[in-house]
Order: sequence, then structure tokens, then C-alpha cells
Amino acid sequence: MLYCPPLRFNPGRVNFYESSLFMRTLFAKSALLPNGWASDVEIDIAESGDIAAVRTGVTNSAAPQLQGAVLPGMPNLHSHAHQRAMVGLAEKAGQSQDSFWTWREAMYAYLGKMQPQQLQAVAAQLYVEMLKFGYTNVAEFQYLHHDQNGNPYANRAEMTLRCLQAARDAGIGITLLPVLYRYAGFGGQAPVPGQKRFLNDADGFLEIVDELQKAVAEDSNAVVGIAPHSLRAVTPELLNHVLASFSTGPVHIHIAEQIPEVEACLEWSGKRPVEWLLENFAVDQRWCLIHATHLTDQEITTLANSGAVAGICPTTEANLGDGIFPTASYLQQAGVFGIGSDSQVSINPAEELRWLEYAQRLTTNGRNVLAAEAGASTGRTLFDGALAGGAQACGRNIGKLEVGCRADLVVLDSDHPRLVGRSGDDLLDSWIFGCDDNPVKDVFVGGNQVVADGVHIFEPRIEEEFKAAVVELNSSS
Ligand SMILES: [Zn+2]
Repeated sequence: MLYCPPLRFNPGRVNFYESSLFMRTLFAKSALLPNGWASDVEIDIAESGDIAAVRTGVTNSAAPQLQGAVLPGMPNLHSHAHQRAMVGLAEKAGQSQDSFWTWREAMYAYLGKMQPQQLQAVAAQLYVEMLKFGYTNVAEFQYLHHDQNGNPYANRAEMTLRCLQAARDAGIGITLLPVLYRYAGFGGQAPVPGQKRFLNDADGFLEIVDELQKAVAEDSNAVVGIAPHSLRAVTPELLNHVLASFSTGPVHIHIAEQIPEVEACLEWSGKRPVEWLLENFAVDQRWCLIHATHLTDQEITTLANSGAVAGICPTTEANLGDGIFPTASYLQQAGVFGIGSDSQVSINPAEELRWLEYAQRLTTNGRNVLAAEAGASTGRTLFDGALAGGAQACGRNIGKLEVGCRADLVVLDSDHPRLVGRSGDDLLDSWIFGCDDNPVKDVFVGGNQVVADGVHIFEPRIEEEFKAAVVELNSSS
């Protein structure tokens, strides 16, 4: 087991760890660099947590050797942490046909009970699980803002700050995406009671953004973006107002996830959601369109040309019966994409990528549908794509093992029975398409080790607090 001291946990500080080393070096027999697989690689990590140098072909390294192939950590571009606590509780058939909308009722009832400390405990456990599976940054799309009566907490950003603290406790990088939620439907429809914890006007929302920006000002593992929840939840005027006050940083929005949403948008505007957004707002590389499931051929082309990221969440989209993103056509047009764990039914990036491809195989009766070209590995194509799009959507310098990027490293267990004897792209394909269990062995975030030999370094404490929170939530009314 490789474990890289010295690390001192100091939760009172902005940074997760305080390291007494100015620079350290790790050695990998094999690593996936931006231009492909490389052998005998030394990676220097600066005190800041960024990669300071990468050398290949080093045959006499004295640095500690990582025990397997090294990959960049995967960004998770879409997470609702609170939903981790209710996974599995909405799988019983209702009286009529179940859908996204009946699931949403169950979700509203559950989250209506959640207290700040419970959210923090649930998020910390979730982030530990993400790290163990190889996600090293999470984009937290957080809309649970107010108390159970819908009144703001003393600090209006309380609940999102709880997610930030959970990320610091677990040691994962985070892109905080406070959600702008004001209305229940297109054209400024009045919200329903189950939404009272979500609601803000422009001033209230910008106060949350301001609090979060202050909180991460000196944190090299966190940034702040914004997330207008959906075109249902804002008006064009409100969205324009908020964007005018937020000129840099990621902008994420749920869009075209459900057919009834597309129909309601057509009724309101005469346009489909993605069509309307791209015609009315300057959607560019700052933007991440979550789901974007229901697209016409013209919308696929316009979205791909915009440079925005399509935030695809295959296991959640399957669980909720959303539909299938037209990935093959979108990738043929060089569309940018990333993956998210969204409702947390799976927190395994390999499973998201597997189902991204399998959905295409099931609908086209073909194989290796998403591979970049003849002879290319499907796993490698999807892994590279999700790294690049995920990093762009998260607004951080992550997802690459190169100088200046965060030293977010994932080590696959080269001795795992499903991976033994594999190398290069075969290793990635064997992980993504062939592993039922988790072959991630060690994980580093900003150069600090958070998972050692498959175990998170604070796992027992965080898991105990999570279990207590879930028992409380299940027994409260
Ligand atoms: Zn979502």
C-alpha cells in the first residue's frame, strides 16, 4: 500500500491539508498524459497542489512508485448531494404510470426534512464515495437554500457552505453552483409549496453568490459558478439580470430533460428549450447544458457549434426514464460533453461511460458506436472526452496530467483480476466495460492522497456521521 506522508489534517484552515513539503515527486510506470500513454513517468507536485513538471522515460527514479496505471481524476459535472440520502426510496410503482414527475414528488418530500448538519453529513459521505471511484472534482448544483418554512438562514448561503465544508472534509475539489430558482413553470408561474426551500429573487441569489465567493477566495480546490435551475424556474428578465452581475465562471442549466418540458416550452415560446436558449442567450464555453436529452438535428448541430458542454448523466437519465442523449451524432460534430452522477443512483464514472455507449448500442444494434475512428478504443474516446468537457464545465484547471493543472491523480490497481496483464487503452476498456467492482486503488487531489489502497483516509468517521444522519432523516416527519 502506498501512502504519501506527511499530511496533517487541519480542518480549521482553508486548505484540506497542510503539507510541510515544498515539492514532491511521484513515479508511475505508466500514465495517461494529454498526448497519450507514457512510460516511466515522474510527476513533480508543487506546494500549491499543481503539477510542476512531468518527465517521461525516467528509468532510474528514486521517487515513490504508484502501484498501477495513473489517470487524471475525472470531473463529475452534475451532482445534487442531498439526493444521495434517498437513493432506492422511489422504486415502488405508483397508482398511475410512474415518471420523472412522480419521482420528483418523492424527492421533494424527502428533502423537505433535511437540516444543514444532515446535508453536510450526507454530502461528505457522497464525496468520499466519489473519490473512491475516481471522481476528483464535483460540480454541486445546489438548490436547497432555505429552512423548512422557506425562510433564509442567518447566512443565506448556509446550505451551499455545508457542501463546501463537506468537500473540504472529504478532500474533493468542488465547483459550487448555487441554483437560481424562482418559478414553477414557463412564463413565471407561481411556485408550489414543495419548492419553498429553493426560492430566491435576484438580490437574494446574488447575496448567496457573494457569500460563496468570499468563502473560496483563498481556496485552490474550489470555484463558484451559477445555475439557473431550468427555463421553467426563471424568466428571461431574471436570467438576464443575474448574468449581468456574473460575467465570468461556469453557468449550468437543466434543459430538455423531459418531453412535457419541451411541449410546455413550445407552448410558451413557439420554440424548443435548447433552440430558445441558444437563440436568446450568448451560450458559449462557460455554459453547461445538463441532460439536453431531447434535441432535433438542428439543435444538435447548434449546440455542438456553441462550444458549450452537454452534461450527460446516463444512469440517472435511465433511472428517471428521461430518454437517450443523441451522443453519436453530437460527437460526430465535435460536440463537447462530460458526465455527472446527478441523482446519485451510481457514483461510478466507469458505469456512466459504459451506459453512455450501451444506450447507443441498444438503439443502433451496433458496437463501439462512440469510438473516435476505426481502430480507436471506445473507453479511451469516452474517457478523454469526459475529462476535457468535465474540466471545462467545472471551470477549473483539472483533467490533465500536465504542468499547471491540479495534481488530481487516480491509480488503477494493476493487480486487479480484471485488469492484470492489461495496459494502455485495453486497461481503460477493461475498467469501463469489464469491472463490476472498483479497481481504483489510490487517489490524490491537489497532490494530497485521500484514498489509499481503496479506502478513504477519513472513511470511518464520515460514514458514521452519514449513517446517523440517514437514521434521523428516516425517523423524522
Ligand atoms: Zn440535476
